[in-house]
Amino acid sequence: STIVVAIDGPSGSGKSSTSRGVADRLGLRYLDTGAQFRAITWWLLREGVDIHDPEAVAARVGEAEIESGTDPLAPTITADGEDVSVAIRSEAVNAAVSPVSAVPEVRTRLLQLQREAIGEGGIVVEGRDIGSVVAPDAQVKVYLSADPEARAVRRALEEGGSDVSATQESLLARDRIDSSRTTAPLTMAEGAVHIDTTMFTLDEVIDQVVALVEA
Ligand code: C5P
Repeated sequence: STIVVAIDGPSGSGKSSTSRGVADRLGLRYLDTGAQFRAITWWLLREGVDIHDPEAVAARVGEAEIESGTDPLAPTITADGEDVSVAIRSEAVNAAVSPVSAVPEVRTRLLQLQREAIGEGGIVVEGRDIGSVVAPDAQVKVYLSADPEARAVRRALEEGGSDVSATQESLLARDRIDSSRTTAPLTMAEGAVHIDTTMFTLDEVIDQVVALVEA
């Protein structure tokens, strides 16, 4: 299959579980672009770069070697060859990733990697700007959303039982930055199908996306 499925939406909308489930069901590869932005952020923090200084970030971002494994059942992410799959979920990275992602040079750099991975297709790609910028020609575009509380509960569970209200605050703070920034703000792409996942189970959402692909 050469199909490209673009799945966008805010954190906790069910993007990752849905994208992996859809890729697994359809035998497609899977790319988590949020993990790539997180890996760059992790790398900049490790290098001691001031992430609130866009020029400093822009000057160093080209040095980071980020690689993504695209198996939906065992996705991997490395920075300079080091497995950072756990480290990129830390509070430090959560707090720094939105300002880093707003730096145009960061997006340009990752766009290259993303376009390479998308190549001949056969992939489900999740992020914020996949249907609009990264893969505007994707055959299927989905925009997932959910009520803030449902999103915080899911994310807190994923993080192994962190405090729901603190999780909701950090998630809404990222939303505010992600949707108000001038570079690639989070918006619904032209032609995207909107699914509000609040009242659905994961399997039901996967079924709906698979149905769109098979339609
Ligand atoms: O999806 P996830 O919550 O892991 O993404 C982390 C952050 O990476 C987002 O809050 C956003 O700032 C950034 N991001 C982005 N563009 C993407 C994917 C993620 O700007 N395509």
